[in-house]
Amino acid sequence: MTEPKKIVLLGATGSIGENTLQVVRKHPDRLQLVGISAHSNAEKLAQIATEFNVPHAYLPEAAGKAENFPSATKLDRSTNGLLSLASLDNADLVVIAVVGASGLSPTLAALQAGKNIVLANKESLVLGGDLVMQTAKENQVKVLPADSEHNAIFQCIQGENQRDIDSIILTASGGPFRELPIKELQHVTIEQALDHPNWSMGNKVTIDSATMANKGLELIEARWLFDLPPSKLEVVIHPTSIVHSMVRFIDGCCLAQLSPPSMTFALQHALLYPQRAEGVHTSLDFSKPLDLQFIPPSIDRFPCLRLAKESLEQGGSAPLVFNAANEIAVEAFLLNRIGFPQISDIIDETLSRYAHPYKNDLQTLLFLDSEARRIATEVIGTLS
Ligand code: NDP
Ligand code: MG
Repeated sequence: MTEPKKIVLLGATGSIGENTLQVVRKHPDRLQLVGISAHSNAEKLAQIATEFNVPHAYLPEAAGKAENFPSATKLDRSTNGLLSLASLDNADLVVIAVVGASGLSPTLAALQAGKNIVLANKESLVLGGDLVMQTAKENQVKVLPADSEHNAIFQCIQGENQRDIDSIILTASGGPFRELPIKELQHVTIEQALDHPNWSMGNKVTIDSATMANKGLELIEARWLFDLPPSKLEVVIHPTSIVHSMVRFIDGCCLAQLSPPSMTFALQHALLYPQRAEGVHTSLDFSKPLDLQFIPPSIDRFPCLRLAKESLEQGGSAPLVFNAANEIAVEAFLLNRIGFPQISDIIDETLSRYAHPYKNDLQTLLFLDSEARRIATEVIGTLS
């Protein structure tokens, strides 16, 4: 029997964190947690450290008191603690499950330290896709996609030639407002937007699913992960979330990956890659009828999807600005400061006001990101 893979899990207390823990719980002989991080939830982090007997943990000082950690856990609270954990000496694999733009620095730190990564944090590719993929290449390490769509594509292209890919088709559930009359979108509440029909996820990504900004971010993510131009990336609505994405090859054949809507399938695939083992949940039941409907998305209903596509086509810092403005707008929506349709208005206006040159290094990207956030915040100020 081979040694278990040593895993660092950044963002252990979140939704992807929890799904990752389910896979680790299922396969203790194959996966061992050696590091975990949280941003604010000290109590949950201590519980995870105790259950999995984790030797290293990180919690920022700002998170306040940290109690109930087992004595075997070395708890780092220093400013650079997250980056140290991302490059932990004896780790084989680093799972990037933190939310938002804060994922970019630890992603780069892990790659620079020669670690293979399982990437759930799509924002790091949206901000610095070129830099991330280049750093992975230079350090000869793998970026294993954990986002279910990209993991599906990754599975479908195994053993295929890049030049034989005609296009990739990302599936989207369409979220809770897929059929709501468009004029009613201005009245939707936070609770309605957080009530996703198929997936249970963190708040930010759930709102992004309702606006389809999430699919926009995923188009940008796919562009970098699979090195394909925007013209080869498509989106289709598939309300039951069973087909997780498809690849169309130049001969016209399409391959798809199917599984029930639980992130454990994609995460387990990425964590155990290239091996497979029994899943956390049971597979699809084909003894019952399955609805595999595909519908083209309405651009009028989902302006965030259009804006993401335009920013991808524009290139440079536009995707970064799209992401920053979206994060600021979603935060404002969750605080009840703006209405649902204003999320796309804020992104649109921020994109049109922003005119900073793009440069592909971490410090510049972080500066551009903070500038875009400042402008988006200004835009919100003009609305209220
Ligand atoms: P959650 O909000 O549920 O969890 C976020 C995690 O990151 C928590 O552990 C949180 O710690 C930590 N965190 C929050 N802010 C920071 C910060 N500034 N710096 C470092 N850590 C931070 O998010 P999700 O698990 O839903 O999403 C994580 C990532 O995965 C996102 O990029 C998302 O787009 C992507 N993703 C998520 C999917 C899902 O099903 N949830 C599906 C596909 C992709 P604490 O709990 O202490 O605040
Ligand atoms: Mg996804």
